[in-house]
Amino acid sequence: MTTISRDNLFFAFSASISPAARVNQGDLVTLETHDCFEGQLQTKDDLITNLNWDHVNPATGPVYIEGVQPGDVLRIELVEVEVGPQSSMVAIPGEGALGSLITEMETTILKREGDVLIFKDKIRVPKKPMIGVIGVAPAEGSVANGTPGPHGGNMDCTLIGQGNRVYFTAGVEGALFGAGDLHAAMGDGEIVVCGAETPGQVRFRPQVVQMAGLPTPFVETPDLVAVIFSAESVDAAAQGAIERMADFLTRFVSIPLNDAGMLMSLVGQLKFCQVVDPLKTVRFEFPKNVLQQYGFEMPA
Ligand code: CA
Ligand code: ZN
Repeated sequence: MTTISRDNLFFAFSASISPAARVNQGDLVTLETHDCFEGQLQTKDDLITNLNWDHVNPATGPVYIEGVQPGDVLRIELVEVEVGPQSSMVAIPGEGALGSLITEMETTILKREGDVLIFKDKIRVPKKPMIGVIGVAPAEGSVANGTPGPHGGNMDCTLIGQGNRVYFTAGVEGALFGAGDLHAAMGDGEIVVCGAETPGQVRFRPQVVQMAGLPTPFVETPDLVAVIFSAESVDAAAQGAIERMADFLTRFVSIPLNDAGMLMSLVGQLKFCQVVDPLKTVRFEFPKNVLQQYGFEMPA
């Protein structure tokens, strides 16, 4: 098994970054990740005013996956997502969906007791690990890790966790995959621009699947599939996610458009990933049991 340590950090998805490791499809690979502040916030006295912004949103990698060609659909199976013993959260005046109301800068540290996170030493919430930043290099140029897009990046989607699968379209040979910005828990929307920010590790298995043209980024859980889309407004992000799910249902599952629309209206779920970054991220979820009734299964 290949393990890539958190010394191998990068801050933008780009074809020009040399790979930290080369792995084969089907290999089990472990990425050790830093939190989104690269460990700069360890106590409540570590305020974001003193943050070195050159060390924000690191991802571990990139990983060159042998045999991946541009245009291939790459499936990342998230075998295990583990988070650290403590995580940090911040409230920042002027930032996030409540920024106009928040007047006091604050950092808080959440300790973890097993599967429970302790907020302000008394409020217990369940751990629900997820990956904030995950993606592949775009075909051209470079995308800072803080930005989501067609290549993945900072999508902050709560479905991207252990036991689920994420699909990307490779932009370059080898895909140059990486991930970071783990959250021990996060609510949909990411209201104050953070989840429980934590270091951790991601164990995954990469595999090219024969689903050319799949609208990516795409997520599969045991129960549902979801299309993720990011745009400058929540409206545009929602419209993009909706149209791409309709595209998936008509082209891959062969459901006529009107039926796809009615089923999306009947059992589909439009949800926010995050509404706080310059590009907002929305997903559209659709239940697998309906796909199965049409005789469709995702690749094994
Ligand atoms: Ca994030
Ligand atoms: Zn984060």
